[in-house]
Formats: sequence, C-alpha cells, structure tokens
Amino acid sequence: MKHLTPNDIVNLVFQAGIVGAGGGGFPTHVKLKATVDTILANGSECEPLLASDKTLMKNNAFDIVQGMKLAMQATSAKQGIIAVKGHYTDVVAALEEAVKNETSIKIHKLENYYPAGDEFLTVYDATGRIIPEGGLPLHVGVVVSNVLSLAQITQAVSGKPVTERIVTIAGEVNKPCVVSVPIGTPYKDLINLAEGKSDPDAQVIDGGPMMGNVVKDLNAGIAKTTSGLVVLSKNSLVVRMKEISLGQMIKLSKSACCQCFRCTDLCPRNLLGHELYPHATMRTLDYNSAEATKHITSAFLCSQCGVCELIACDFMLLSPKRIYAAYRKELVAKGIKNPHSKKPEQVTSAYEDRKVSVAMVMKKLGIEKYYKKNIPFLGNMNTNFVSIPINKHIGAPSLPAVNVGQSVSMGDMIATCPEKALGANYHASISGEVVEVTESYINLRKKP
Ligand code: SF4
Ligand code: SF4
Repeated sequence: MKHLTPNDIVNLVFQAGIVGAGGGGFPTHVKLKATVDTILANGSECEPLLASDKTLMKNNAFDIVQGMKLAMQATSAKQGIIAVKGHYTDVVAALEEAVKNETSIKIHKLENYYPAGDEFLTVYDATGRIIPEGGLPLHVGVVVSNVLSLAQITQAVSGKPVTERIVTIAGEVNKPCVVSVPIGTPYKDLINLAEGKSDPDAQVIDGGPMMGNVVKDLNAGIAKTTSGLVVLSKNSLVVRMKEISLGQMIKLSKSACCQCFRCTDLCPRNLLGHELYPHATMRTLDYNSAEATKHITSAFLCSQCGVCELIACDFMLLSPKRIYAAYRKELVAKGIKNPHSKKPEQVTSAYEDRKVSVAMVMKKLGIEKYYKKNIPFLGNMNTNFVSIPINKHIGAPSLPAVNVGQSVSMGDMIATCPEKALGANYHASISGEVVEVTESYINLRKKP
C-alpha cells in the first residue's frame, strides 16, 4: 500500500462515511483533523446487556489496533490506549496479542461500572485528565474513538466504506444474539434473527436500556450508530420512564421530589467536579422562572446518562435527565450558549466510591434475568431490503445522490455530506434497486 499522509487518512475516512459508532454519531474524519498526543479507543460498552463491542474486540482485535495506528498517524498522537472492561479476560487476551509488538499502544482495564463509556469518564480513568465543563477530549490532548469506528478506519484505507455493523439483540427475545448486518436492516428483521419476541407486547429500544430510545416503527432500518436492540416489557421501569410525557413528569416532580440530593450524589459529571446539581435543577421547576439561572444553563453539562432517573431516585418516574434535555432544547432555541467552563483540578473525593456497578444497574432496572455471560455471535447476516437512515449522525442531514429506479452496487455512494458542512456520506449496504428516496432515509431492495 502506498504511504498515506495524515490528509490522505482524513479524506479516506470522510469518503467512507465513518461516524462515532458507539451512539454519538460524530463524523470521525473531523476528529482526526485535530493534533493530540493520545488516541483513546473506547471499548467500554457500559450499557447493560450489550455485547457488540466485546464481540468485535475479541474477533477483530488486529483491525482495531491497525485503525488506532492510522488515527495516531493522522493526529500525530504519540500514544494509543485501548480502554476495555478488565473482567472480559478473553477480550483482554485478544487485544494483548494484537498489541504485543506495539510499543506505543497499551491496554487500560476499566472497572465494570456505569457509565464507564461516557468519554469524560473514560478519559479520566485512562489518562487522569479531566475534560473541562462544556469541553471536548481534545482540550486535554485526546481523541476518543469507539472501537468499531477504529476497525472501520482500517477498512476505509482499503477502500471499503461503512456498509455494515455489529449489533446485539437482547432482552425479551427467544434467542439473544450478536450479528453483523447491513446498515438499514429493518428492526423487525433483527428481532426475527433473535427468533422473535418472547413477550409480544414488549417494546424495542434502540441502544441500551439507560440511554436508548423506544423504536416507534419496526419497519425502519438501523443506523450506523445502532449498537444494539434491547426488548423490554411495556410495563418495565425502563419503558415507562422513556414513555412518560414531559408534562406528566414535571407535574410528578413538583409534588414528589423531596430534595434528597441522591441524584446529585450519584451524578457522574458532578463526581468528576463539574458544577451540575440535578436536585437543585429539579427545584427550578417550582419557580417558573424565565431567567436562565446557573441550575438551568447547567443543562449543557449533562451527559444524559440516566443515573439520576433510573438509579439514584427512589421515586418512580422523576427525571432530572429529561428536565435537563428540555432546558437545553429551550436554551438552544433562544440562542443561549453554554456559559460554564470550569476546569476541575481534581475529581471529588467520592468519585471512586460512588461508581455504580453494572450489576447494580441491572438489579435496579429488573433486567438481570436477561444477562448472558456469553451471547452467541451469528456472524454476517444478509437481507433483501434495507432502509438506510441518512440523518442519524451529528451535523447536517446528508443529501440523496440516487433516484428511484436506479441500480446500485454495494458500496456505491447514495447520499453525500453537504459541501463544507459537518456531516457524513452514506453508501449502499446491499446491491439492488433504489425503491424510495426521502430527506431522512433511502430504501434499497435486492433485485429478484
Ligand atoms: S429527583 Fe429524586 S433523587 Fe433527585 S432530589 Fe428529587 S427525589 Fe431526590
Ligand atoms: S443524566 Fe443525570 S446523572 Fe447523568 S449527567 Fe445528567 S444529571 Fe447527571
């Protein structure tokens, strides 16, 4: 292969349409334009029941390490760190084998806590550096990339765009599994791969139980950011919390929040030293104030991890997380920017002691019964139809580059990033015919 310059790598990653595969969806080529000293591979996958990154790291450790080396080359980073749960001994062994001849790449073993995958926490755990309020990893010299995104960088330099991804299907299904499927595979097909729901009324969550969202249309297709589907009873705490309307929740909060502080005590960003006090923000609901006070603008500091609503609060269905999301939306609509920029010198003294174990999260959510230490990997699965979302990334929606009736081959560009905008390209994930084109998705069907 010809020698690649940092610019070549950035361009190939842009062409391939790589976005943060861990759920964030931030275009990877933009991250790689930075100059930093460290690339951190995020393999923490802290959402309970998901095993996609774990399976990938075990089976494709060399691709991840190769992607790490390319990312280091693009950003001039001198060191690479792969953050992985220490108790995944077989995964750690596979990664150790892949880095045994690499002097500048090491493995950092994380504790099994939630949300170890929040990049602010992963960066602190792996490097000891604290990202300032409202900051980014690059402000402390780090680029964080999900392990799948790194493996995709390796494929990108060989000319292979993002057309597939690894997904876990867990919860109320007959055969939980991990599979690799084309981007845009309909949710209902994935449920079928797991041999159907074991509770017909159960709801499907895209992502994990803590941060994922209930899927409203099972005919829609999975995105580049879909790491897993978790199927849970409609009466479960998780589904009820996600389905309660904001109005109902605010009403409940005004009458039930007893200002016990537990949400603040366990808030991971507060523990990191950021000035985020969810109990105090709950109090603002009583003021009906038009003024953007600090407990309202601190919405910009919330990671939406859900520890406050699902783990800390003993009252059902109170959610500082949802209040923060609503405040943030309102502030952005008013054109108000994040005014917080504290740079904590050190984390709070309770940081280590108040980490919430994943076992405790599963118990609190009532989902321990779905946990499987070894969830089978079915390999690559095909499909005859895909509905590829072209707007599930951070930045401008992509522009369709194909028309209905057009034939496409797998890997052909079907939607492009608008010129000079932050965004991503999209490619056909199967060969076939374009059957529908909208602003938000493109449907392809295999020809008979
Ligand atoms: S939201 Fe819940 S945990 Fe937080 S202060 Fe109110 S009652 Fe306590
Ligand atoms: S969701 Fe709750 S616990 Fe998580 S960062 Fe926001 S306020 Fe803190």
